[in-house]
Amino acid sequence: MAHVLVLGGGFGGLAAAHELRRRLPPGDDITVVATSDRFFVGFAKLWDLVGFRPLLDGVRPLERLDERGIRFVRAEVTAIDPATRTVQTTAGTLTADGLVVALGATYQPAHAAQLHQDAYNLYHADALPGIRAALSELTSGRLLVCVLGTPYLCPPAPFEATLLLDEWLRARGRRAGVDVAVSTPAQLTLPVAGDDANRYLAGELKARDITVLTDHAVESIDPDARQVRFRGGQTHEWELLLAVPAAAPPPVVAESPLAGSDGWIEPDRHTFATDADRVYAAGDCTLIRTATAQLPKAGVFAEAAGRIAAANLATDLYGGDRPTFDGYGYCFLELPGQRVATVTGDFYAEPEPAVRLALPDDASFRAKQQWEQDRLTAWLGTDPIRPSSADHEQESTYVAD
Ligand SMILES: Cc1cc2nc3c(=O)[nH]c(=O)nc-3n(C[C@H](O)[C@H](O)[C@H](O)COP(=O)(O)OP(=O)(O)OC[C@H]3O[C@@H](n4cnc5c(N)ncnc54)[C@H](O)[C@@H]3O)c2cc1C
Repeated sequence: MAHVLVLGGGFGGLAAAHELRRRLPPGDDITVVATSDRFFVGFAKLWDLVGFRPLLDGVRPLERLDERGIRFVRAEVTAIDPATRTVQTTAGTLTADGLVVALGATYQPAHAAQLHQDAYNLYHADALPGIRAALSELTSGRLLVCVLGTPYLCPPAPFEATLLLDEWLRARGRRAGVDVAVSTPAQLTLPVAGDDANRYLAGELKARDITVLTDHAVESIDPDARQVRFRGGQTHEWELLLAVPAAAPPPVVAESPLAGSDGWIEPDRHTFATDADRVYAAGDCTLIRTATAQLPKAGVFAEAAGRIAAANLATDLYGGDRPTFDGYGYCFLELPGQRVATVTGDFYAEPEPAVRLALPDDASFRAKQQWEQDRLTAWLGTDPIRPSSADHEQESTYVAD
């Protein structure tokens, strides 16, 4: 009987665990270890923010893995020894015949440390109540959405948030008093998405009178003065700052022998195998190089990597096929009016990713909703998590005017 460990209960970990369950004999033990007791898709935070759907409606408890033949251990992984496939956790030491590391990414500590008072981390669920309260009072000044560094998760999300909040302000008759701006240190809004998508996104932002500050690296944030200083000395005042910190590898990953020089794991980009025998890595904790940059840190790619990694690990244990990832994937770009465009294609193509923008149509928003539901249902069932008292404090109380 084999015992396989999956570290992380996000897109990569859940896809891997379910693929392993499908491929391994029923008697084999599959254990998922994660600090969080729940799963939800990242874009559900934006839906909560603009009042489309409370976050909790899209949250599922990881304990439901147990009903699906996968053991769930809620614990923090504190050390990984790939040579022996031994993992230290706050729930004890675990050793396995195979390991999939899918621990996601954390935020660049220096960026996260600057975010307090009315400067919020747009990506953190804990910030949602504060952002909602600040939005309820926002009638003048500037709403500034700031990408603080690269790489960051889901490249389109800061621009989606800007567009959706612009729509939210317009619906409340407040947009005339509120200036809306978005900044990024990159030369383009979406460098990975190709010219068409960049032109299209620029057009959508311009049409709504949103100021776009490309090539604007943030040097410092002063929450007391409500001011951002960009490299070169330019400053911008804000009434509400929604910042997106750069992603950083989780310390336990950066400190493990699996990490490359900058702390990320760099597995084989086709099989997600690491240098260690029967140890794979998937999702945001990895750095996957492409011809021009790196594979976006996105759930779509974490899921694909988790599946491929799991299939190859099952083959290491029992033989069989060796599927490989071809670099093909897609990113959603949500737009006002419940429309979704997609950027689809071969992100591994040479000399640059061969991706194409599909313009939004009526069905695309429903397809994105279905995409979320398919994963929640397949991995953890249909019923939302039962809210705890902490959740009640956080629960969405849509800002009503
Ligand atoms: C606002 C927003 C919108 C987004 N929109 C999209 C989108 O439209 N499409 C898309 O594809 N992606 C989107 N994303 C990105 C997507 O959410 C991430 O890329 C995806 O979650 C990465 O999956 P992962 O499994 O690598 O990591 P995660 O989903 O972050 O999972 C990491 C897991 O590891 C666990 N963990 C971490 N450290 C430890 C530790 N030391 N010990 C134990 N457990 C640990 C965590 O508890 C968690 O279970 C969005 C993200 C945000 C924030």
